[in-house]
Amino acid sequence: MTDSRRAELYALLAELLAEPLDWMSLSGREWPLFDLLTQFAAESDSARRHLDLLAGIPSEGLNQRRKRYDALFASGRPRFWLYESAARSGKILGPQTFEMARLYRARGLEPAGAELPDHISLELTFLSYLAGQIAPSTSLRTSNLSHEQQFLENHGAWMIDLGRALGQSGDPVYARIGALLADWLTEQMQLHPACTSDAGTGEHSRMDAPRNTQHTARNTFIPIIPNPDDCTLCGFCAQVCPTRALKVMQNKEYDFLSLNPMECIHCGKCERICEFHAMVMSSPSPHASGDMGEGQILCQSPHARCLTCGKSIASQAEMKYIVSQIGEAAWQHLCLDCRAGLYV
Ligand code: SF4
Ligand code: SF4
Repeated sequence: MTDSRRAELYALLAELLAEPLDWMSLSGREWPLFDLLTQFAAESDSARRHLDLLAGIPSEGLNQRRKRYDALFASGRPRFWLYESAARSGKILGPQTFEMARLYRARGLEPAGAELPDHISLELTFLSYLAGQIAPSTSLRTSNLSHEQQFLENHGAWMIDLGRALGQSGDPVYARIGALLADWLTEQMQLHPACTSDAGTGEHSRMDAPRNTQHTARNTFIPIIPNPDDCTLCGFCAQVCPTRALKVMQNKEYDFLSLNPMECIHCGKCERICEFHAMVMSSPSPHASGDMGEGQILCQSPHARCLTCGKSIASQAEMKYIVSQIGEAAWQHLCLDCRAGLYV
């Protein structure tokens, strides 16, 4: 299975999961993907399995294809998230968004358009790039494969989950695309396991490596944030809090992290997940910060607003962190709806 054909297949999957292009109104049998799968059929079980399914996709108008796409993936609260960070952590601008932006930059790549770096079409395009790099020698070719496989090891699972979920969606077009995506990526990961086992891209690594194990003397401690400038309001601490004592909330002007001390069971998970070391377990202070109706406010930051419509995108603290990690980019200043408008 040559690198260039694998690269082409990733690129076609990327196109299928972006806003529908003209060629998508053709029947599945007329798609370039069908020809490619035919070429792969002798050597790939997943290609063989999906040939007939793909051939069964009927032609229909581009507007109808776009309606299907919008029904499944349109911004707001879509049935299926196409952003890795949203799919994995529930945050549209989350750790995978930044990680992907850094990966592209490290290779001198810049996503065209204003789509978020962790959109599946960009991740698949990146896979196409990794698979298709021309390698002048056998040893370098092995190295390219390892980059592709390492990326799959770190980022393949959510795409496979998405593909499987889409496969159950009942949509006659995207269910088949999703099932193919899941099968193809699963097969690639099984055929070529990654050279290293460092699949952690942040969340699990942090959770497996607690910094402080001295819990016995701390069983009445609650979390505090001594220096609010250290907190990016990423919300991971609230996500791992088993009692929901911690919550990231919004009012008209601010995003804020609140703690209800009565619900805290002093487990310290929030402290351990915080990669910025902003949160520490401490004895309760009688001079706790202000109250917005949901307990103590540990940290707050004004909204960063969409330059076009003024809707809140994230907190200014998150935006500051994004810029510090990856520099300025066009997509940072627009909400999902206004970004989508750029493609019309
Ligand atoms: S305390 Fe840490 S984990 Fe919690 S929101 Fe702030 S930066 Fe994120
Ligand atoms: S110590 Fe445990 S229960 Fe208390 S806020 Fe942190 S994660 Fe939640």
